[in-house]
Amino acid sequence: MSVPYADLKAQYLSIKEEIDTAIQDCIDNTAFIGGGVIKEFEDDFAKYAGAKYCVGCANGTDAIEIALKALGVGPGDEVLVPAITWISTAGAVNNIGAEPVFVDILEDERTIDPSLIEAKITDKTKAIIPVHLYGLPARMNGIMEIANRHGLKVIEDCAQAHGAEIAGKKIGSFGHIATYSFYPGKNLGAYGDAGGITTDDSDLAKTCKMITNHGQIVKHDHQIIGRNSRLDTIQAAILKAKLPYLPEWTEKRRTNAAKYMNKLAGVKVPVVPEGYKHVFHVFAIQSDRRDEIKKALDAANIGNAVHYPNPLPMVPSYAYKGHQTGEFPVAEKVCKEILSIPMFAEMTLEQIEMVATEIDEV
Ligand SMILES: *Cc1c(COP(=O)(O)O)cnc(C)c1O
Repeated sequence: MSVPYADLKAQYLSIKEEIDTAIQDCIDNTAFIGGGVIKEFEDDFAKYAGAKYCVGCANGTDAIEIALKALGVGPGDEVLVPAITWISTAGAVNNIGAEPVFVDILEDERTIDPSLIEAKITDKTKAIIPVHLYGLPARMNGIMEIANRHGLKVIEDCAQAHGAEIAGKKIGSFGHIATYSFYPGKNLGAYGDAGGITTDDSDLAKTCKMITNHGQIVKHDHQIIGRNSRLDTIQAAILKAKLPYLPEWTEKRRTNAAKYMNKLAGVKVPVVPEGYKHVFHVFAIQSDRRDEIKKALDAANIGNAVHYPNPLPMVPSYAYKGHQTGEFPVAEKVCKEILSIPMFAEMTLEQIEMVATEIDEV
């Protein structure tokens, strides 16, 4: 028996009729760009995420770029980002002409370390992008306190954390604006690329909407410089059909995580602070024998991955910054020890046990 890292097919089969109907309706109506289903999904998702507005866009990377632009961040500005995250969080900052500035992470939680933020603030700093990595909320209360004291904007990168909460409050509702990815493997995934932006600020929402569609709300009335980053209609229809199942899928992920935590004795398992709701986009174990464990899982045909092999300050595209080994000690250690093991809602107890046994044997 092998265990996949994720099983998108199992999820599809569980709601096949609804997905097929949603797609067929778009084709029957030849509604490929725009259409009512986009607004319906945006409204449904805003409600789910505890926000007043949601603006769909083409992917989660664009969502960050558009949010930064809407907030007025641009050339000459600096934006603080965690040293471990998917490349988009930092790349989006470069792509609007601003400069990402890396901050080391908390070892247990792997999110940006609030106690290290202030030392990185300069008179060019305009914003902070906390990432709710793996599905665990970043320390938003501490981050907002610092941001407010320094007049900084906060963009929450929620790409891995749909539905995560701190003390019953949904992530994405702490900062000024939040961005989501609906990449197929994310906790809410489309059948291609898709993304979204949420905020309670109606002006910001309107600006984001205009940026995603050539700077216009009304056709040919280009108010600002925009681009094409529209949410695809078929993807919106699929996401709308899937969203009602997200709470149930999230609870299953959390139940599977609890089972893993009971069974895994010899490795470090995710640490969840009191009152924090982790949604386990990724279940990451940590061990100084990571490479041996990885080898054993590969040999047993058990899906696994390293998120991420290198802190972003050390990847070739950021070599221009001249960072040296030892500057981000926590991120550097975590990257050497971290391993993501299979995690999806439809996992069986047998699959969880097989993974845990394989790891315990090492
Ligand atoms: C997936 C992801 C993104 C980018 O989303 P895409 O839809 O793939 O562009 C951004 N940030 C984080 C933390 C992600 O995991």
